[in-house]
Amino acid sequence: ANSSQKTNHEPLAGYVTVRGAREHNLQNVDVDIPRDALVVFTGVSGSGKSSLAFGTLYAEAQRRYLESVSPYARRLFHQMAVPEVDRIDGLPPAVALQQQRGAPSTRSSVGSVTTLANLLRMLYSRAGDYPKGQGIVYAEGFSPNTPEGACPTCHGLGRVYEVTEQTMVPDPTLTIRERAIAAWPQAWGGQNQRDILVTLGYDVDTPWQDLPQKDRDWILFTDEQPVVPVYPGYSPEQTQRALKRKEPPNYMGTFTGVKRHVLHTFATTQSALMKKRVAQYMLSQECPTCHGKRLRQEALAVTFAGLDIADFSRLPLKRLADVLGPYADAKALSKKAEAAAPEKAIVTQRIAADLVARLAVLLDLGLGYLSLERGTPTLSPGELQRLRLATQLYSNLFGVVYVLDEPSAGLHPADTEALLAALAGLKKAGNSLFVVEHNLDVVRQADWLVDVGPQAGALGGRILYSGPPAGLAAVAESQTRRYLFDATKPALPAPRPAAGWLQLRGVTRHNLSNLDVDFPLGVFTAVTGVSGSGKSSLVSQVLVELVAAQLGQALPAEDEEGDPLERAAPEATGGHLAQGLAGIRRLVQVDQRPIGRTPRSNLATYTGLFDPVRQLFAATPEAKKRRYDAGRFSFNVAKGRCENCQGEGFVMVELLFLPSVYAPCPVCHGARYNEKTLEIKYQGKSIADVLGLTVDDAWAFFSEDATVRRPLTVLRDVGLGYLRLGQPATELSGGEAQRVKLATELQRPARGHTLYVLDEPTTGLHPSDVERLLLQLNALVVAGNTVVVVEHEMRVIAAADWLIDIGPGAGDEGGKVVIAAPPADVAGAPASRIAPYLARFLS
Ligand code: ADP
Ligand code: ADP
Ligand code: ZN
Ligand code: ZN
Repeated sequence: ANSSQKTNHEPLAGYVTVRGAREHNLQNVDVDIPRDALVVFTGVSGSGKSSLAFGTLYAEAQRRYLESVSPYARRLFHQMAVPEVDRIDGLPPAVALQQQRGAPSTRSSVGSVTTLANLLRMLYSRAGDYPKGQGIVYAEGFSPNTPEGACPTCHGLGRVYEVTEQTMVPDPTLTIRERAIAAWPQAWGGQNQRDILVTLGYDVDTPWQDLPQKDRDWILFTDEQPVVPVYPGYSPEQTQRALKRKEPPNYMGTFTGVKRHVLHTFATTQSALMKKRVAQYMLSQECPTCHGKRLRQEALAVTFAGLDIADFSRLPLKRLADVLGPYADAKALSKKAEAAAPEKAIVTQRIAADLVARLAVLLDLGLGYLSLERGTPTLSPGELQRLRLATQLYSNLFGVVYVLDEPSAGLHPADTEALLAALAGLKKAGNSLFVVEHNLDVVRQADWLVDVGPQAGALGGRILYSGPPAGLAAVAESQTRRYLFDATKPALPAPRPAAGWLQLRGVTRHNLSNLDVDFPLGVFTAVTGVSGSGKSSLVSQVLVELVAAQLGQALPAEDEEGDPLERAAPEATGGHLAQGLAGIRRLVQVDQRPIGRTPRSNLATYTGLFDPVRQLFAATPEAKKRRYDAGRFSFNVAKGRCENCQGEGFVMVELLFLPSVYAPCPVCHGARYNEKTLEIKYQGKSIADVLGLTVDDAWAFFSEDATVRRPLTVLRDVGLGYLRLGQPATELSGGEAQRVKLATELQRPARGHTLYVLDEPTTGLHPSDVERLLLQLNALVVAGNTVVVVEHEMRVIAAADWLIDIGPGAGDEGGKVVIAAPPADVAGAPASRIAPYLARFLS
């Protein structure tokens, strides 16, 4: 325990007092945190900031809230984790704005998350211009997700789905026996249909394209479902003979037309895999009735400022604010409009004024380039968090503590000031702010700092400092202190010359239009620009797609498990590679997408280090005696795992009216394995014990095994030594997932000539971790590879050999290359918005 921090005085007025916090790695800490203040939690990643802010303070506030609203929930929640803490006093109700882990619902959009869509529907309903004679459309009538509003042709999806001969029979030179009908089920189901066609007298041995059109149409499109005798294994001649002789069949089979099969399977299957399989035989096109606008004609006939609600929702928020501005101004209320319909004029002004005020907050937070209809799955986690933050600013809550997770993620330094203003607004309204943050510009503005550390995992978990920022200067142990107060700048190496240039020509995507960009090969390039300027569209999308296509490398599919009906159609890649591909043999994209969506995927399985670990267990004398092979030590294989939870370690508890929760499995208590498997010990530890080790501890434990140690070493190098081997993929933050991917790549034998593309790799990283990451990226360049990152972090930008600054603004005001040059030159470029910040950093 941490006795120097122990204070036994009574709960302080105006403070949240925490006593004996032990969640995760927290070492029985006591801390007093002021309310009605901006409190920033700092420390290296894994030090315990989130365990304190989210795992203890927010979790406890949440638990108290649930207890107060529902005695029923209380009974069920006894199995839910209660934070490990002796006592917390003075804790207000809490609202968490976390970085989203995993994809939010595909149906939600900027409009729905911000609730601006509701206001807009009200505006159209009450203040829109209706065609003569048309009755009023109620607000719900402007929502494609209600029966009142949805276009009857496409049911509000905006697209219609069709199957054609071409989609169902992609290769017409094949015969039916050769599986010309690709859309039929594989294995037995497809054979059965073929045998039925043989009974029905269809020719299954002539190429599809040579069959009469009448036969083809019947097979594909009929709704008839004849039931006929089936003789599997008989040739067509034998079948016909058997039929004539009325030979008893093996069974009676039901024929189903191919189109019917595809549509029926698509509509009814419970299996995402089946759904995906049949979806590839469907063609989607814009709905001919609503032209993709998803609404009924009556709703689309209503206009405001000359636009229907769908077109209005497609405008960038900034333009929306401009259009609504004049309507919102009470003094400028048009006398004519007022005279004609005084009530409508007032309603228009009120709703427009409300919309304009809400939009102003979004614009301040640098989100003016988004449109209301933009789906949330296409937003970055940082953008989504800022949307939620803006929405909170308008919810008029007070006396609440907002717990935020790195709100500056994805923000250009120019936008960080607006973020600070937004946080100040929440504070002024009488709220408390607990923010986990690495960005020093935010840290400096804190009223109070809680520095956790000094290191990650077991070497952290202590409160090094709690007080006004200036006081941290005296805390020698703190890693944060060095960056906050140390004025010495890192020495910058001279930029390396490019080994060649990868030339992209005519790049067109979102706000990029016919852009030419050159990426230097064999060096480290950072792409900069304000949020929404087009960095991700250029780097993570077009660059990656073009290079992958040239190399013939497949890209991981976007959101594989999503509903294919709601998935956006893939966008065509606009542009081509003019030159430079000879310098690249492989592409590695290291992004922040989750590395798995189930607790079955974890650090050990993903990095591949679990295979040699299982072999070590299988090689122990006891395992050999019992004939346990390596498979026995997998929690995905029936023989070794706990059958109650099927190796998950958790069971799902369904709660009425509340989201279901995972509770530890009552049989194995989270160990995931059955008793017999756990009896096998390697150097005194069971396989479950090993999964419970942190990377650091495992590194020491497996000191004699090079195969296991290599991936562990790399994980430590990217600053992940604090993670547990069995840590489920679902528990990793986006930044952690990205570093796990990076480590997995780094442990592969170095081959050079690889292009590494990373989107904001410093998210979630303390400045000291950023330095470690830079060492890794630099090592890749030294080994003959090319590294391209999208970044806002000044330390990374300054360390690059080459910068490509995209902008100058966001959306329509961006999308150009402002300057491409080494950092020192960019710092002096007047047009670049990064220049002043870079100049200050370099001076
Ligand atoms: P930070 O927010 O400072 O990056 P965390 O609070 O997330 O750090 O983690 C602190 C320690 O607690 C780390 O060692 C981490 O591995 C561990 N930890 C985090 N989440 C869990 C969890 N769900 N179960 C067990 N240990 C965890
Ligand atoms: P950055 O990475 O610099 O933040 P992006 O490339 O994400 O910028 O966005 C550039 C522009 O393209 C913005 O106006 C943004 O709204 C738009 N955009 C990005 N992704 C999509 C998408 N999936 N659908 C529609 N517009 C998009
Ligand atoms: Zn439609
Ligand atoms: Zn179990």
